[in-house]
Amino acid sequence: MSSWKIGGVTVTKITELEAVGDTELMLPQATPQEVRRAAWLSPRFATEDGLLRTSIHAFAVVTPARRIIVDTGLGNAKQGRPVPAWNGLDTPFLHDLAEAGFPPATVDTVLCTHLHIDHAGWDTTWTDGAWVPTFPNARHLFAQPEFAHAEAAQGHGTAELFADSVRPLMDAGLVDLVATDEQIAPEVRLVPTAGHTPGHVSVLIESRGERALITGDFIHHPVQLAFPEWTSAGDHDPARAVETRLRMLDELARTGTLMIGTHFPGPTAGYVDRDGEAFRLVT
Ligand SMILES: [Zn+2]
Repeated sequence: MSSWKIGGVTVTKITELEAVGDTELMLPQATPQEVRRAAWLSPRFATEDGLLRTSIHAFAVVTPARRIIVDTGLGNAKQGRPVPAWNGLDTPFLHDLAEAGFPPATVDTVLCTHLHIDHAGWDTTWTDGAWVPTFPNARHLFAQPEFAHAEAAQGHGTAELFADSVRPLMDAGLVDLVATDEQIAPEVRLVPTAGHTPGHVSVLIESRGERALITGDFIHHPVQLAFPEWTSAGDHDPARAVETRLRMLDELARTGTLMIGTHFPGPTAGYVDRDGEAFRLVT
């Protein structure tokens, strides 16, 4: 289990699934031959053969006043997902979350960077024949434009996600729609990073002069520091996604902000350094 201190705030990673390779959908341009050109990725972020290591995890963010979970992965027992391996999962994620100090009832806020199937799945749990909120005492925050887009969306499993993981929260009165730059707590604020989805947000943490950013999917893998123009097959607006990624990487490099990657494996966090025309992750 990895965790980081940003001033008075603690961020802890709780892993749901890790994988090697099989990244044709996530990053179609990331052929082994191309990946091997960025030698610094091996062995922690890619194998020596050029296969990418990936991760699906949640972050628990503890501030002096709030206990926040950022993104909730795939969830157990979900069906109708377009990735076969993501249906009918039975992982110990909730057990691991509790072991890490976060029994679901103690969480007061659930933040979602965007409404894709690997980011809101644990918002509900199949209990007594129904999907019920996993975090019954938490406000569930969605950026308003993201929510509106997902509510109308078809395909990529978003309609299924909305039905089994979001609608039950609405029925229970647990949803708050917020601005894409909403201040969540004195130390935590959303940052708009549209492109991958129309209302995508990242999560900026600032405390005692220290800064960290939880990326969400404006970047999927450290290989995109070396190749920022590589897009995901899941990008809603690929050109805008590239523009956002370049803007954010430049800002992270200039401000010395710790980047905590939502799908980054291994050390998961690092600092962004310029590397010629591109960047590299320093851990
Ligand atoms: Zn994702």
